[in-house]
Amino acid sequence: MQISRRKFVGLAATSSLIPLALSNGLSKNISVKVNQASENSFEPWIEIDAAALRYNAKKIAALSGNRQILAVIKNNAYGLGTVEIAKILNDFPEIMGFAVVKTEACIKIREAGITKPVLLMALANDKDEYDLVSQDIQLSIYTDDAQKRMEKLASKLQKPINVHLYLDTGMSRMGMPYHRAYPWIQTLAASKSVDIVGTFMGFTEEPDFDKEQLKRFTDLAEKAAKDGISLGKLHAASSNAVYHFPESHLDFVRPGIALYGAYPSYAEEESKKGQLKPAYSLKTRVVRVEKLRVGDSVSYGRNYIAKKPTWVATLPIGHSDGYPRESVAGAKVLIGNEVFPVIGAVSASHAILEIGDEKKVEIGDIAQLVGPDHPEVHPNAVAQAAGVSVYDILMHMNKEFPKVLV
Ligand SMILES: *Cc1c(COP(=O)(O)O)cnc(C)c1O
Repeated sequence: MQISRRKFVGLAATSSLIPLALSNGLSKNISVKVNQASENSFEPWIEIDAAALRYNAKKIAALSGNRQILAVIKNNAYGLGTVEIAKILNDFPEIMGFAVVKTEACIKIREAGITKPVLLMALANDKDEYDLVSQDIQLSIYTDDAQKRMEKLASKLQKPINVHLYLDTGMSRMGMPYHRAYPWIQTLAASKSVDIVGTFMGFTEEPDFDKEQLKRFTDLAEKAAKDGISLGKLHAASSNAVYHFPESHLDFVRPGIALYGAYPSYAEEESKKGQLKPAYSLKTRVVRVEKLRVGDSVSYGRNYIAKKPTWVATLPIGHSDGYPRESVAGAKVLIGNEVFPVIGAVSASHAILEIGDEKKVEIGDIAQLVGPDHPEVHPNAVAQAAGVSVYDILMHMNKEFPKVLV
């Protein structure tokens, strides 16, 4: 099955729904700049489907009682590109803003011309905090010295600082522990230097304990309300809670992975509750097709020995690109209309497929390793086959892969 390179060019050129930043670099809307995959490159690229992102945002809003979405685009937007994804999501009415965990991502988002709220869910140093607040980034605060630091910052900037209080209700990861948070909250609420625009927490995603965590959170919020303290908007729900814990949807929801079309926890159950569309595909081209003789072996360690003559195909993508080593446990790759199993050890830059006794693929054929076009390459299916987290399937993708909008 030969898919011509020309077909690929056509695909990239004709199906762009969003104006790309072409040579003139300007468009009326915020243009989405992508590094175009070279038309004849064998090297891996990522296709991003804006319509699927839109579909998922609507679905998440519907699952959340039509609440707004603070889109988590941390870690290079789960591998899909911070700026590329932010620019697409920015146009959706369901998306109220963005949350990230690196200061650099905040700046990149602002430099891209995006003006919706951006929340940094991390600790920044004094200098970075100054730059971030100057760019209208909202800070998360949780340390004992938060009030002192915010007062210093506010006096430098001559304005109150917009913050979200980060509370720890049981993750023991980030946030002010809930059991000693109240006096800290009172102090901050009394400070003229601080404008509390939100208060948030994260769940352990252990269903029974999640309920206890939410209670710890809402108890504090109720106490504050009684004392006339505003904690701003309350938010807690990541993708898992969007699906499984409606009581936690609060003022808005804060999902990441579901936006990109992957199910967070129990794919089968979740797809029935609210089906998502994988919003990206990871593709590359076949670089070698050969026939093995009986007894020929494949890759390091010779884990695969041909028992009968078979065709094999090599893809120029490996574990250093984020394609999991564990794929060999049963992951498949789509070429044309058929899926083929990964065999042998996945090496740093190569994966090898068993094609069978017929030569069904050619050098240059497009292979979809992860994507929407077959159930066996759905991100959750690849994760399951490999026995890894679906978060790894997205987030470990090589940052340098070119992004193509389709
Ligand atoms: C990553 C993250 C999210 C989003 O999680 P998903 O499971 O991808 O929906 C939300 N909140 C916090 C604090 C996070 O770190």
